[in-house]
Amino acid sequence: MTRCTPASRDDLDFHCTQCGKCCEELWLPLSIAEAITWIRDSNPVAVFCQAIPWPDEPAPDNLPALYKRERSCAAMAGTLPVRVLVSLAAPQGNHCPNLQADKRCAIYPRRPSVCRAYPAEPNPLLQLLPQQRRCPPECWQAGGEPLIREGEYVDAGLRQLLSDVGGRAIIEAAPLQRLCAALEIHVAALANEGFAVHLPDQNALCTALEQCTSPQDSHPQDWTFIAHMPASIEAIRACGAQCIQADSAGDHTLQYIRLAGL
Ligand code: SF4
Ligand code: SF4
Repeated sequence: MTRCTPASRDDLDFHCTQCGKCCEELWLPLSIAEAITWIRDSNPVAVFCQAIPWPDEPAPDNLPALYKRERSCAAMAGTLPVRVLVSLAAPQGNHCPNLQADKRCAIYPRRPSVCRAYPAEPNPLLQLLPQQRRCPPECWQAGGEPLIREGEYVDAGLRQLLSDVGGRAIIEAAPLQRLCAALEIHVAALANEGFAVHLPDQNALCTALEQCTSPQDSHPQDWTFIAHMPASIEAIRACGAQCIQADSAGDHTLQYIRLAGL
């Protein structure tokens, strides 16, 4: 497993004002079990796919590459070796369907793990930067609850939760590949540029989620890229893989999200 960087170089205090901003206009990452519950609650779940050209294995000290490697599966896109990262997320629209008018969570005791962890940083290679969180400035004033001391989250339960979230992403990499095979999902965005967002029939998705954690034979997927930058599309095709132009791909089951700034 990849090593951790300090949670922050500075000590941080935190006090949640219950403003509800972290429950608005976001895609909410979910585990397989959480996604099944989410769908059973009649809320939609999407399948996010990214692919990384992977002609060679990374050096042992390339931690960002190793982080992606352990959360992905080897596959092919035409004749190009790739690693495919699959994740699940719930679209929240203007706000999460569980956010009540008084800004309280209707499912608080069973809310997803990323909700429990917020505003902590789930990626152990990144530091928590308050300016990248939805929380208003007054949340971070000294005098709140101690959140980080000497580079570590103070709360043992939070440290365990972040460890569980990270471990789960590794454990679920193979089942999520099986999920894609079962649903015939085979389009992935070029990582670092965007996300391919699949919105399959929700009954079929729920069934596939229930079955994907059982080891089973699955046929290797031949993945197709989707990208929006002409130079990237040209480079991918030159490597022997198919690549869809993002602007021509949108329909009700496949959307493309560009990463900010690209
Ligand atoms: S499940 Fe609850 S805590 Fe999580 S985003 Fe929705 S309203 Fe917020
Ligand atoms: S955005 Fe921050 S302060 Fe606001 S409810 Fe979420 S965790 Fe609390």
